[in-house]
Parts: sequence; structure tokens; C-alpha cells
Amino acid sequence: MNPFYQGARFLTAATRLAQAPEDSGREIVLAGRSNAGKSSAINAICHQRALARTSKTPGRTQQLIFFQLDPERRLVDLPGYGYAKVSERIRLDWQAHMADYLERRRSITALVIVMDIRHPLTEPDRQMLAWGHARGRPILLLLTKADKLKRGAVQTTRSTVLREAREMAGGMVEVIPFSSTERIGVEQVQGMFDLWLDVRKDPGG
Ligand code: GDP
Repeated sequence: MNPFYQGARFLTAATRLAQAPEDSGREIVLAGRSNAGKSSAINAICHQRALARTSKTPGRTQQLIFFQLDPERRLVDLPGYGYAKVSERIRLDWQAHMADYLERRRSITALVIVMDIRHPLTEPDRQMLAWGHARGRPILLLLTKADKLKRGAVQTTRSTVLREAREMAGGMVEVIPFSSTERIGVEQVQGMFDLWLDVRKDPGG
């Protein structure tokens, strides 16, 4: 149990940048296709069962959800992409708000792209990767549901994804196989978040 991440709390939800909390401190953004396992990953990383909603209702899927770790550090759950059951106008409107957030938010420190290990680097994943690269932010590709593959296949997929992603976005990319159900990769992700968020470990602890 990591008490820092266990302390994560819902802060606010926003449909546009103006509703976001003050743009100070550090923020890690988590993006991914619907159903990739993003909510489950957030819950696993924060040692909570229902912090991020799994199987969300349509209305909620269009919001940015801010979780506070402490007053200067946040995790932000982006709406799952690939969600189709809204009108074209609403979808475009919402994409514009997302782009606004991603382009203008200064406190974004790093980007996590959550992908099902069996379906990595889909087109929208690549677009997010390109965005992270363009903004010069470090990127973690989280390969979820790693429990669904044999160990050898997990490592082969990790290598392939790492090579492809580095071709696109250079050296600031890392890839971690992950499983919420089997708790694979949780501590590794927390360690990476500690670096990005500049979380100092208590030397006595
Ligand atoms: P989201 O839409 O990306 O937030 O995805 P969810 O976290 O709601 O997960 C989608 C589905 O995948 C759910 O049925 C989860 O139970 C399942 N799932 C999520 N993570 C894992 C995992 O690590 N292993 C397995 N086997 N299933 C998972």
C-alpha cells in the first residue's frame, strides 16, 4: 500500500477548461480508448475500489475528472476516446474543449496512455502520443490486462510497442505492462509518478 496514492480524492469534474481547478502545481493526465481499463488502473494505482468509475454512464464520459493527491498534485482522467453514442455536433464541441485543455494547461507534467495489451497503438493512441511529443512531455504507455497474455507474449509486445513509440516520439516514452486484477506493474507506475510529481520519499519511512 502506498499511502500517498491511497490518499487520492475526487476533486472536481469539468466539461471545459474554464471549469478546471487552478492551473498550478503538477498534473498527470491519463488518456485511453473506452474499455481499455483506465478506470480500473486508476483505482489500482490509488488502492481504491471506486475512485474512478468503471463502466461509466454516457453523460459522465465527456468530463475531465480531477483527482487530488495533495494541494499541488493531481491525476486527471480524460474521457475515453472511441465513444460514439453522441451526436456529431456534441462530439466536435467536446473534442474542441479537450484540445483546449491539452494545449493550454500549463500544469500538465506527463501523459499516460492506457491501452489494452492485446490492442496497442490504435490511431487515437498515436494521436495522443504525437500530442505528448509535440508538447515535450514524458509519456508512459500502460499496457493493461497483461494477465490476459502469457509472460513471453507480454515481453514481446512491450518491446514492439516501445520500439514503435520511440520511433514516433523519441526517448521520453516508457512502456509498462500492467494488470489491475493481478496487480502487475502498480509499484512501477507509482515510482514513475513519484518522479514526475516530485514526491519526496520520507527517508525514515
Ligand atoms: P475504461 O473504460 O478504460 O475506464 O475501462 P474499465 O476500467 O472500466 O475496464 C473495462 C473492462 O475491462 C472491465 O470489464 C474491467 O473489469 C476489465 N479490466 C480492466 N482492467 C483489467 C485487467 O487488468 N485485467 C483484466 N483481466 N480485466 C480488466
